Amino acid sequence: MKNYKIAILAGDGIGPEITAEALKVLKLIEERNDISFELLPALFGACAYFEKGNAFPQETIDICDQADAILKGPIGLSHEESKKIPVDEQPERGALLPMRRRYNTYANYRPVSLPKALAHFSPLKPEVIGEGIDLIMVRELVGGLYFGEKETGINEAGLRYVKETLEYDEKQITQILHHAFKLANKRKKVLHNIHKSNVLKSSVLWNEILEEVAKEYPEVEVINLLVDAAATLLCLKPTQFDVMVMENMFGDILSDQGGGILGSLGLMPSACLGDEKAYYEPSHGSAPDIAGKNIANPYSMIGSVAMMLENSFGMDQEAKNVWAAMQAVFADGYSTADLSKPGSGVNMIGTDAFGDKVVEKLKAMPIA
Ligand code: NAD
Repeated sequence: MKNYKIAILAGDGIGPEITAEALKVLKLIEERNDISFELLPALFGACAYFEKGNAFPQETIDICDQADAILKGPIGLSHEESKKIPVDEQPERGALLPMRRRYNTYANYRPVSLPKALAHFSPLKPEVIGEGIDLIMVRELVGGLYFGEKETGINEAGLRYVKETLEYDEKQITQILHHAFKLANKRKKVLHNIHKSNVLKSSVLWNEILEEVAKEYPEVEVINLLVDAAATLLCLKPTQFDVMVMENMFGDILSDQGGGILGSLGLMPSACLGDEKAYYEPSHGSAPDIAGKNIANPYSMIGSVAMMLENSFGMDQEAKNVWAAMQAVFADGYSTADLSKPGSGVNMIGTDAFGDKVVEKLKAMPIA
């Protein structure tokens, strides 16, 4: 029997609630397959800072180091609450970026998917959704502005200033582009390259390297698009996209827009892949505005489990089953509060009930 160690970082805000639902699914997967999961819970984010004085404590590092995969809930506090933590220990700077750097999880896959039957979840008109939205954003995750050197101080004019550096080398760009081309090759063979080469030199280098890498994938058509235009087209004609590739900050922003066109950030799971280690997390934050109310949508966290089953454990069929089980719950007319507004005809259920229904649907699905 195969045995996998999974670090479980439930995180802050809605993190523990949606993680609990993901663990129900993981337990069922374990029960119905010849596999065992050793779950290793650890503190990460603001909860870790308050309990251990460090947002990514050594105990958590040790657990993540030995894990075969990491399942991470969202971290962070509300704007006001975050002021209780020194700037450098605040969850993203103190935990998330150090984890991404430590495991070099440079390839972030963010699916943005809504079948035609669920077009009513989206704020876009049904004719814009057409046959459904099904795209993946491939975001570079360990370079660019978020990881560059930072400097603050008082300048010669006596004014407070800040300087942040956007840096990429050709290896970083090449490796993420290979991910994107390979994925495009497996799908519709169209790759949208999102850039800003009319202003940023980093995009000029990015595009130069893209032309070199593209030679290895002659069957993939490349469509170059400025990031600002891409934001507009995501609203006007999202169905034209299949695989999109972009640098770190563009991906951060456009993928939240992806959640917007679906109708909720709760529909946004993700996989963060390195060559040695991967972690899986919802694309969204800790949603402090709805934490503790049993109303968060656990789809993003359960979807992250599906991505882990496929990418870290090679359980492709079970991954497909998990996606299908969640779609089946929606098809029965149920969802959490974010997607069941009054008059929508969707029956509102709690976070825990959504998880239970997914488990019920999954039980009825064939393993192979
Ligand atoms: P957010 O993504 O937490 O929430 C934005 C909106 O989406 C809120 O209205 C929230 O209620 C809703 N939402 C998010 N997830 C949902 C879900 N699963 N179900 C239903 N509704 C959901 O963004 P924010 O409020 O700007 O940030 C809150 C905290 O999260 C901040 O501290 C931020 O730094 C942090 N954050 C962490 C990560 C991460 O852990 N990777 C990512 C983004 C933001």
